[in-house]
Amino acid sequence: MKTIMKTTFKLVLPFALLALAYLFYTKTTALSPAQLDMVKWAPYGIFLIGGIISWKFNRSREFFILTVLALGLAAYTDLAGALTLKGLAARRTDLHLLISLLLPFNIALFSFFRERGILSLWGILRIAAIAAQVGLAYWLLDPARQPLLQTLGKTWIPAVKSSALTPLSQVSLLLFLAALIILIVRQVSHRSSQDISFIAVLCALFYALHQTGGGNPVLYAVAFAVSGIILIVSIIQDSYSMAFSDELTGLPSRRALKQDMMKLGMNYAIAMLDIDHFKKFNDTYGHDTGDEVLKLVASTIKDVTGGGKAYRYGGEEFTILFPGKNSTDVLPHLEELREKVSKRAFTLRRSGRGKGKSGRKARGRGSGKARSKQIYITISIGVSQKSDKHKTPDTVMKSADTALYRAKKKGRNCVSK
Ligand code: GH3
Ligand code: MG
Ligand code: MG
Repeated sequence: MKTIMKTTFKLVLPFALLALAYLFYTKTTALSPAQLDMVKWAPYGIFLIGGIISWKFNRSREFFILTVLALGLAAYTDLAGALTLKGLAARRTDLHLLISLLLPFNIALFSFFRERGILSLWGILRIAAIAAQVGLAYWLLDPARQPLLQTLGKTWIPAVKSSALTPLSQVSLLLFLAALIILIVRQVSHRSSQDISFIAVLCALFYALHQTGGGNPVLYAVAFAVSGIILIVSIIQDSYSMAFSDELTGLPSRRALKQDMMKLGMNYAIAMLDIDHFKKFNDTYGHDTGDEVLKLVASTIKDVTGGGKAYRYGGEEFTILFPGKNSTDVLPHLEELREKVSKRAFTLRRSGRGKGKSGRKARGRGSGKARSKQIYITISIGVSQKSDKHKTPDTVMKSADTALYRAKKKGRNCVSK
């Protein structure tokens, strides 16, 4: 339930920011010229902050998209202004055309690339790709290239009467659509909040470019500013969940455990769990198979009953916090959990084609025929509660650890308190 809410929040947040930005835009008519000036400069400040954050967090996709946005904004506001001053208002339409082609193209391009770091060879190639586009844009804006630009902006499919609906060219519409499809496919397959934020940015840009065919620097600035904010929020969100959830099992991490331990009230029980003979398991079947088993065990532990919340303590050890409970309350739930783990079979596929690099021992020999084998895993559990003897979460945890040690001594696959 909580995960559904978290996922929904991640999906909705970027669009809620878009709605807020729109609301703000509708109020900009009441602003003084000085305030409007601030609105026009705000996106640059946001891009700068976003650039620093994405640099620090090594998020090259956001970094490059922010760079492209900054260039797009500068080209539209400053260059277009200069062109109009020089009596070249017609060139402004060309500039609008170029920007509405390059922005969706770059968002699709950079969201498609894998994360490779900003200052790596790949990063430098990407910087070169952006620089090449700036060069290309200047080249295309030369009056001599007018026919080429007209070709890009022309209505290729007259049957689709898009010009009645939007000033955007058909090629630009096609690029926006392609970028949207790529991002939706990526979001569905990767389930990353990153792609959702890119979709929201794409929507903001589409709306701004669609509306600003005739030039509306305030709307343009608001759309770019909110795009920057959406990207920053996405970086912070991802880094937060990375710090507080364990990458392998998806369980909350030790850092989350430490935080939640501070929030425990007057009564609570803490259980420590440890997989039995896991070292031997790794030695026999390989570390990769060990990881798979760890994931399976974690998914069972995650569904612990009795109001417990499970964490990966580290390695093959887990912790469960039971706020408001004592050891006697939670024993039957831990017993049920132990039994559930021991009865859950892990199917080991012993095929000639081993999967992982270090999973050599899990490979079958010779035949190449797939053979599968059922493996069962057991866990030992120690539990303790807040009492006069153990007054703090740390001491209760230590006591649970001692109980776990007793469970191991008793012969494993049991719960001890
Ligand atoms: P016991 O029943 O006494 O707990 O025996 P054990 O072998 O499980 O205990 P020990 O603590 O000596 O070994 C833990 C092993 O768990 C060591 C390591 O090989 C394995 N392990 C720890 N973390 C991971 C992990 O993330 N992935 C995999 N595959 N193995 C891990
Ligand atoms: Mg251990
Ligand atoms: Mg162990």
